[in-house]
Amino acid sequence: MSKIKLAMNWAGACGGCDVSLLDLEDKILELSEIADVVYWPAAMDYKRRDLQEAPDGSVDVGLFNGVVRTSEQAEDAELMRSKCRVLVSYGSCACFGGIPGLANLSDREGIFSLVYRDTPSTLNEEDNRPSPQWQDNGHTLTLPEFEDTVRALHHAVRVDYFLPGCPPSRERILDAVNLIAALAGGEDTPPAGTVLAPEHALCRDCERIDSKKSDRIPRVVRPHEIRADSGTCFLEQGIICMGPFTRSGCGGLCLAANQPCRGCFGPTPTQLDPGAEALSAFGSVVGPRGEDFLTRAEMKREVGRIPDPAGTFYRFTLPHSVLYRSFAAENKDRG
Ligand code: SF4
Ligand code: SF4
Ligand code: SF4
Repeated sequence: MSKIKLAMNWAGACGGCDVSLLDLEDKILELSEIADVVYWPAAMDYKRRDLQEAPDGSVDVGLFNGVVRTSEQAEDAELMRSKCRVLVSYGSCACFGGIPGLANLSDREGIFSLVYRDTPSTLNEEDNRPSPQWQDNGHTLTLPEFEDTVRALHHAVRVDYFLPGCPPSRERILDAVNLIAALAGGEDTPPAGTVLAPEHALCRDCERIDSKKSDRIPRVVRPHEIRADSGTCFLEQGIICMGPFTRSGCGGLCLAANQPCRGCFGPTPTQLDPGAEALSAFGSVVGPRGEDFLTRAEMKREVGRIPDPAGTFYRFTLPHSVLYRSFAAENKDRG
């Protein structure tokens, strides 16, 4: 069996996905037996030109993490696509936009104003902004363009497989290793577009599911406001848990730490827009009485008790959702 060539690159990312490969622990030795790393700038001294100089299609598998926000990241995505036979969207940022995707609630101007002018700790009376070009040792340097919208990887280039998680859990990374092994051995691989994780929702794996006695959430509380019972469904305790709207595959990491699911594994195949579905579902069950018995104002008040709806329901999936980005920003785009 000949070794396959593996590349890993990151774009708008926190670095967690890049180092998560090391969560393989001893299994990383198995990976090194079947694959040679030919590009991984975060871990070794690779330069962009190393990948640019490789022939198109000469890398067997590319793992790409992070969102596409700048012109440089878009070029990196296209570079990985052209060099890699199989491209894997690695982690929730690349798959769905992830937490950086919440920036789609604003736009470039809104973000720059906040960062360079409006934060309480910023002193910038002349409203200076990063200069798109500057001189260094006689060379003109140009900043990458900061685009208005955060994109998931498949919004920028064609993607073969999706590996969700923030970052992907060890079991899911092993799925990627198995995929790499199958490619190396010339075996059959899943069809393009496959998400390398189970198809059912997290609730089905959750031991707390049997504790669910009511279909109502009488009072919404945040996790730090109560001492959550570790054997009872979070929804039963009034804590919003995205388990019903989230793909299984993490092994219930947050639940084991007595924290609700935030939805980092993204939607199941039947959910078009998990954030909207969760908002709709929770909106109809919050409050002590059924929605049929509430006036419009009462219903608004009960739903208003859900803190930070965008951050709660779209924490990892806003660019992947039907909403994609805020309408205000969208309308501004259109002038
Ligand atoms: S998916 Fe999570 S761990 Fe990976 S780059 Fe994004 S924020 Fe970081
Ligand atoms: S809502 Fe959360 S706590 Fe309740 S069963 Fe589903 S995953 Fe478990
Ligand atoms: S419990 Fe939810 S938020 Fe936590 S790791 Fe699993 S899918 Fe992600």
